[in-house]
Parts: sequence; structure tokens; C-alpha cells
Amino acid sequence: MLKFYRKVTCLLIAMLMSSNIVFAGMLDGKKIVLDAGHGGDPKIRYENGKYGDVGASVNNIYEKNINIAIVEKLSNILKNFGADIIYTREPNNDVAVTLEERVKIANSNLADMFISIHNNKAIKKENGKDVLNTEVSGTEVFYTKYVEYNGKHYIYKGEVKEGNIVYVNIQDVEGNKLKVEKTKVKILEEDRRNLAKLVVDSIASLGFKNRGAKQSEYYVTRYTTMPSILIEAGFMSNPEELKKLTNSEMQQKIAFKIADAVYRYYEDVEKSNRLMNGFIKNLKLNISSRYIFVGQVVTLKLDGIENFDEFVYKVQIKKDGQVIYEKDYGNDFSINFNPDSEGFYDVNYFIKKKDSENEYDDKIGANFIVFKLPSIKSISADSEKVYVDKPIKIKADVENGSYDVMSYKFDVYLGQKLVTTVSNSDGILQYVPKAEGEYRVICYVKDKLSSSQFDDKKEIKFKVERQQETSRGASINDNDIKRLLYSRDLSMGSQGTDVTALQLALKKLGYYKANTTSLVFDNATYAAVTEFQKANALKDNGTVDRQTINKINELLMNLEVKNTSNQTNTTNSGTNIGVFNNSSQQLTYTRILKYGVSGQDVKKLQDALKKLGYLKITATTTYFGSSTKAAVVAFQKANKLPVADGMVDKSTINKINELLKKQATQNTANKVDTKGTTTPSRGNTSQTLVNNKIQLVYTRPLRLGTSGQDVKNLQEALKRLGYLKITTTTTFFGPSTETALRAFQSANKLTVDGIAGPNTIKVINQKLK
Ligand SMILES: [Zn+2]
Repeated sequence: MLKFYRKVTCLLIAMLMSSNIVFAGMLDGKKIVLDAGHGGDPKIRYENGKYGDVGASVNNIYEKNINIAIVEKLSNILKNFGADIIYTREPNNDVAVTLEERVKIANSNLADMFISIHNNKAIKKENGKDVLNTEVSGTEVFYTKYVEYNGKHYIYKGEVKEGNIVYVNIQDVEGNKLKVEKTKVKILEEDRRNLAKLVVDSIASLGFKNRGAKQSEYYVTRYTTMPSILIEAGFMSNPEELKKLTNSEMQQKIAFKIADAVYRYYEDVEKSNRLMNGFIKNLKLNISSRYIFVGQVVTLKLDGIENFDEFVYKVQIKKDGQVIYEKDYGNDFSINFNPDSEGFYDVNYFIKKKDSENEYDDKIGANFIVFKLPSIKSISADSEKVYVDKPIKIKADVENGSYDVMSYKFDVYLGQKLVTTVSNSDGILQYVPKAEGEYRVICYVKDKLSSSQFDDKKEIKFKVERQQETSRGASINDNDIKRLLYSRDLSMGSQGTDVTALQLALKKLGYYKANTTSLVFDNATYAAVTEFQKANALKDNGTVDRQTINKINELLMNLEVKNTSNQTNTTNSGTNIGVFNNSSQQLTYTRILKYGVSGQDVKKLQDALKKLGYLKITATTTYFGSSTKAAVVAFQKANKLPVADGMVDKSTINKINELLKKQATQNTANKVDTKGTTTPSRGNTSQTLVNNKIQLVYTRPLRLGTSGQDVKNLQEALKRLGYLKITTTTTFFGPSTETALRAFQSANKLTVDGIAGPNTIKVINQKLK
């Protein structure tokens, strides 16, 4: 027994050593061209004569960056499947590539497949102007018909009937046109349509609306002579989808779903080849499940063989390209395999007749993917002090799991009593405690592919106190709502955290007037909603339907869009309310000035902020746009006002007046402030390095696609801390900045989202000290 065992081991080692001659997996040797749409800097003209092109752009987020991020992730997975990857634009080389070059790269390399990655943006007309259409969403995949004639591939250019004969117009890669009898060509639409359909269905399974596989004549799908598709993964103009598309984990899932569809495409191709030329025509390799978790057993079984006794079978399993299991020729056509680690597994069965002299007479492959069950790394709250009626955000940070959807459940306990249960798929609980006491929140996570009730749980405890003094809008700052999710209509009496989110959003937009938020859709909420609906030409019935949510999201999004200084003056209320007092150069408070308002008082405010060094525009206007807001926020922060929300209230006016007065006195005394340390953040860059100490000042979140001096400062800081390894910093937040930031966040136990928010900036500053 022992002797036999040793012999088997030796044999296995010998086989592992000769692994360079192992047989191919499904995608081994397949040349796949990955084409990230757009690229380069629009201000630069590249060697090929083309200016850079960012593709669709929303909120300073560029399509080219999302495309390349997906391409990079996709290439890693396809390489694991055994494919050879050819890029039209390398992941770390953001340059302009012409459409002709992209096609040439594919055709001249005799590639097996061409995949172009893009993302969409929808526009609509509103009062004759182009505005974002936030409602359109979903994923779509395009392909073009092609034709095989005399063993060569041609572009299909339509058909004509002359007499009784139908001709097909075709065109080769060089542009030469031919007219051939239809009976002499093979129209190869199927391949491409099948590929497009597999890919669009696969991506849609992640929760994207399925817009289908569509026939189209895009240049890259038209002139490439191999199966080719152009993927529009999602709509950047849809706020929810934009969030998904810029999320690194979601990009990974999209990449995986594309790779998985490509794999199944080749599986289908092999199946049909087998039916035509196969040794055993009906041979099938059944896998009990293509996606399993570590610890689960996968059963591999051959099927479709009429007389199993006539053959012997050999099985080989590769993981991430390496042979990890092999069982030499014998009578077993079925095995149970128990993988002990996550990864991509390729299975190959070799079959030969018992008396065959060949290495094998037939072979068949398949793959399966092993994941680790998800586990909750940490659960955290967004503030240390929690007060009654003040929203708290609790976030579960999960690692591992499959590429599929994760579901979360939060049980909120006050003492021993279960107060509420919230289920969602984003892992974030927004909750407003209504009473004091000891709270406990238990978070459960479950992978969609898992058969357990839940895969992991973790809890967090916090104490809720009653706040002595509620300052105006204090909660708004901590709960900066970026967008709302529609899940149901909200109306008078509705209850839930979605009501709180609605109140926060309406407060941010200036419609919700109550000082505190709640879980209940009350009179104040109703008043805010109807006012909002009236102002935005919606049905003012006080019911928050999908349309109202979309409008709110659109305006929230506009709030974030920079560079509104050239906007036209649309409202003219309050032109004589807040005026500059000429004699003392002071502002007079009469109304709250905030983003979106217009009037002479806005101009006076801008003059004052300019004078104090916070606003760096050449000419002041009567419109309160985002640069004014940024300047106000910077002013409020620098002067330690209780709220830095960019809304100019009485206390802000008082502080401005105080500093104007001081400045006037200093000017008279001919004194110069040489240190300049009291006003750290000036002008329209919202985050600046102060002196040599190098500290960052937070005023806006920085993420992939953001541009500005503050990005350069962030890069400088990450460089100093050893996370960013570039020689020169730039003002653009690209993938390497994101990678560096994620590394920093991970090393410092922050939420790893690649976004420099207030917490991350705070910790960076601590480390810089
Ligand atoms: Zn595009």
C-alpha cells in the first residue's frame, strides 16, 4: 500500500514537472484584443495627429478612465482563463488612439476576438438646452454583420436583387468593394450576435437594465474581421449607475461577467465544432456548479458516451494556469473535487480507446470558479457621538465573496428590544434614533450564490444621548446626501430611513425648513416636497414618486458640478435685500444666501470674499454658483464657524464683516500679514497645503476623475507618506492616485473606497504630522 502510494506520488511529481506540455484550457492561446474607448488629453495632439478624447464626461468623471479600469480588470481574468491579451491602449498609457489604429491592431494580429469597452451618456433638451437625462439606464452591446467569402472575412454592406439572383455587397479591410452572389457567401451574423447576447445578459445579471444585443455599424465592429463587440456597460448620466461604474468592486464584477460570457462563447463554439468534427460527437463535461465556495465539493462527470467501457479517461485540473491535480488514464469518468483555495479552475478530460496508441483520441474542457465566503472585515459608524433625532450612518466593510450580488440585513436593538430591521444591497444603514439608550446593531451578510441563511455577522454598539442644543443644520454637514435611491413612493405618513434621506436632500436643496430630520413624512416634509415640485414643474401632489426622486438627484448632481460662473441669471428675487453698506464697507444680513440664488447681494458677497482672498474670480456676478459656495465653505472652515455648509447666514455675515473691518484697520496702519496662517484655504481650490507642515484641508471629496490643485496636494501628501510612487504630481486624480489612496485607507483601517473624504483627509493629516 505504502509502496503503491509512493509510486503514485512520483508519477504525479513527474507530471507536474512536465507541466509545460500540458494541454490547453478553453481560452489557451486565444488572442483577444481589449479596446478601452477614447483616451488621452484633449489639449494634447499625439504623434498620430489625433487630439486626446475623454469620452463622455459627467461631474468631471471621464469615460476613458472607467473604460480602462474595466479593461485592466478584464485582462487579468482573461489571462487567468489562458487568453493572450492585446491592448489598443495600455492600462498605464493614457494616449489618443485612432479608430483606424484600433482596427489595424486587431486585424494585423489575426486576433480571435475584439472587445471594445465604452460607457454611455444620455442627453435631453430642456428649454432648448442640452441637459443630462438622468433617467436612462442599462447596459447594451453592439455587433456588426460580416461575411465569409473564399475563406476571407468581409464587411457586409447590404443586398441587391437583380433578376432572380440576390447579390451581397461586401468590402474587404482595404476598402475594396465586391458584389457576390449570395449563395456563394456565408453571412456570419450568428457568431457576433451570440457573443453580444451572452455578454449583455451576463452584465445585466449584476442588476443593470438589459438593453439588449444590437446590430450597429460602429467603426471598430464594422472593420474588424473577427468576432467583435462594443460594450456600453452603463449610463454615466444616471447617478445610480455612475456610482456603480466608478466603484472598483463593481468594475471587477463587470469585468468578470464579460470574461465569463467570453468563456461560454468559446464553450459553445467548441460544442458546435464537436458536433461537426468530434471523435465523440455528443461528449459533454458536466460540472455540478460553475461557482462554488471554498470547502464545497464540485462533481465533474463526462456524459454523452455510448459505451463507457470502450475508453479510458484522464483528468487534469489547472488553477490560475498551474496544474494542481492530475489523475492518469483509468476507468473513472467522474470525480469529486474539493478545492482548498479560491481561484479560477480549468478542467480537462482526455479520452482514448483502450487500445489506442495516441496521447488521446478526444478531449473536453470546462471551468469553475471558487470563491471565499464573504466576511465582514469591520463595521463602523460615521460619528462618535450619536444623538436623538440625528441620523447615523453605519457601514459594513466586507471582503471576499463571489462576483455576484451581496445582500445585507441590519437588526437595530435598543437594549434588548428589536427596534427595526433594514435589508439592502449596499451595506449601509442610515438610521435616526428616536430615543436615548444603549444601541446595538447586528449586520448580516449573505452572498447571492451561498445557500446559507447568512455567511457572516458582526455587531456594533453605541450610546445615544439627547443633544442639549441643536445648531442649525448641524446634521446636514455630517450627512451630505449625494443622491436618493428610489424604492417606493413616499407620501404623508410614510416612515423609514428613506424619508430621512429625502429630508436631508431637500434641506440641501433649500426646501426642507425644519431643524431636525426624522423617520416620518410629516407636515414639514410635505411642505418641502410640494414647494420643490412646484418650483420644478412637477405634479405638486406631495407624493415623492420616481420622477420627483430623479429631479432631486439631478439637482443634487448639479450642485456638485463645478464651474457655474458663466451661468445666466435666472432668478432675480431679493435684489435689494442684502446690500453692501457703502459707508462702512459692511454687508447687511437680510436673507440666507446659498447656491443657486441670484441678486445684487450675491455680488456684494463675492466682492467681500474676493477682498478677503477666498474667491479668485476676475469679475464678480450676481449669481451664487459653485465657486462662490466653495469660497464660502473655505471661509467658514478657516474661521471655525459652527457650520461650514456654504450657506451664508447671519453668523457668516457677521464674521465677514469683522474681518473686513480688521482688514480696513490693518490697511490704514500699513501692516502686512506675512504669515497668512489664519486663512489657510483661499481661492477656488478647496483644499490647500498650509505652510511647510503640509496639512490638507478638506472641502470636497476627491475621487477618480476629479481635477484641481487639491488633487495635486493630495498626491504630494500620498507621495510623502510613501503610497504614491510617481515622479511628478499632477492635478488629475487618476487610477494610480486611486490605488495609492486605497492602499493608504487599507493600511489605516479606513473604509477602502478610493475616495478622499473628511475621515481620510483627517488621518492623512495625522500621519503627515
Ligand atoms: Zn465611448
